[in-house]
Amino acid sequence: MGIFGGLAYVLIVDTDEIEVRRSRRRRRTVSAYREGGRTIVLIPSRFSAAEERTWVEAMMRKLAAGDKRRRPSDQQLLERAADLSRRYLGGLAKPLSIAWVTNQSSRWGSCTPADGTIRISVRVKGMPPWVLDYVILHELTHLLQPGHGREFWSLLESYPRTERARGYLEGVAATAGLHTPENQIDH
Ligand SMILES: [Zn+2]
Repeated sequence: MGIFGGLAYVLIVDTDEIEVRRSRRRRRTVSAYREGGRTIVLIPSRFSAAEERTWVEAMMRKLAAGDKRRRPSDQQLLERAADLSRRYLGGLAKPLSIAWVTNQSSRWGSCTPADGTIRISVRVKGMPPWVLDYVILHELTHLLQPGHGREFWSLLESYPRTERARGYLEGVAATAGLHTPENQIDH
């Protein structure tokens, strides 16, 4: 395997595809990262099969914990939304539910002010936490202001990363070839 100078092969553990790469240059260090749909685990070439197994499992647990932090559940989304509403909207926006959805291909989020429900596209999962916070806050603000007028944006100004998050999302949309109207993430 080229630069690794050792064996590389693929294991399947549960539904995770794991590629273990043994490196002669590595003495003690083990590292792991996600690449596309698989996980790459780098280990020293002198590791025994038992050491490899132990380390692969440990690294998978560590990565899974990181994924969980970056990908909160619906319940965690609701707690996060309540906290954001308190911090930036004086607690005025009161969402009833907030959920990840898979059926929004051209919008990052949407909401129904009449019943206080918010939906966030699963495409936001894995983005930096401050981008997710912006998308949540954007939808929370719509519970108070339906359109994208001046009052809407002035409510969002209290969140310090609004401009940065909008730039981030525009960049992602442009890279993916998605058409998103300027200034809008939802309609
Ligand atoms: Zn909007």
